[in-house]
Amino acid sequence: MRKKLVAGNWKMHGCLAENDQLLADVVDRLTGLSSDQFAVCVPYPYLFSVQNTLKDTNIAWGAQNLSQFEKGAYTGEVSAAMLKDFGCRYVIVGHSERRTLFNESNVVVAEKYSAAQHAGIVPILCVGESLKQRDDGITETIIAEQLAEVIQRAGVESLDSAVVAYEPIWAIGTGKTATPQQAEDVHAFIRKEIAKQNSSVADNLTILYGGSVKASNALELFAMPDIDGGLIGGASLVADEFVAICRALVH
Ligand code: PEP
Repeated sequence: MRKKLVAGNWKMHGCLAENDQLLADVVDRLTGLSSDQFAVCVPYPYLFSVQNTLKDTNIAWGAQNLSQFEKGAYTGEVSAAMLKDFGCRYVIVGHSERRTLFNESNVVVAEKYSAAQHAGIVPILCVGESLKQRDDGITETIIAEQLAEVIQRAGVESLDSAVVAYEPIWAIGTGKTATPQQAEDVHAFIRKEIAKQNSSVADNLTILYGGSVKASNALELFAMPDIDGGLIGGASLVADEFVAICRALVH
C-alpha cells in the first residue's frame, strides 16, 4: 500500500518561541494517531531545536532546501550531510518559490534531489505549472520535463525513495485551491508518465498535492485515488488547521 504523508512547509516563518508553541499545540493532538505520516519542513536555524522537540514523537522533520554540492567553498549553503546530522528525514527540492525567485533550473533541482538521496534523505520533489502554462494547455509538458530531468539523472527507481508533490503555482499561497478533479487529473498523469518506465515504481509512489490546502478542503482532496496526502504551506503554521489536515489523512 502507498505511504500517505502530510508535510508542513513553514517557509521563512517562525521564531523559537512561536515554533515551540506551535509544536506543543500539534504534538499532543497527533500523539497515537498514526506513525510515519506527518512531517514539518522548517527553516535551517530551527532544525536543532525542532529535532529535540520531535525526536520521540510521531512527527518527522526536514528542511526546505539544500545545496547540490557535497561540501566546500560555497558560502551560505547547507549540505545534505549537515541536514542528516540534524536528523532530517525529508527535504523539499524544487519548490516553485526556489525555481522562480532563486532561478533553480530543472538541472539544479535534479542535482539537489540526488544530493539528498546520497545522504539518505527523502527528497520531496515539487513540480507544477504556472497559470499561464495551464492556460496555454502545456501543464503536462511542463511537468513531464520537470520529472524527466530527475529521472534521467537519478534513474526511475530512485523514485522508490522519494516523494513527489504536485503544486500548481497559481494555487500556492493564493487561497485558490485546485479542485479535487483538477488535482487528480495531474496526479494521474504523473503516475502514468512514470509508469511508462516502471509501473511498480509508479504504483508505489507517494504523490502529494500542495496549493492552499486547508482543514476545509483536505478531506475531499485526499479522497481522490491518486492523491496520497499534502504539502501544506500557510495552514501548517496554524495548529488547529494543521492537526485537522493530518486527521483528514488518516480518518
Ligand atoms: C507550499 O508552500 O508548498 C504551499 C502549498 O503553500 P500554501 O499551502 O500556503 O498554498
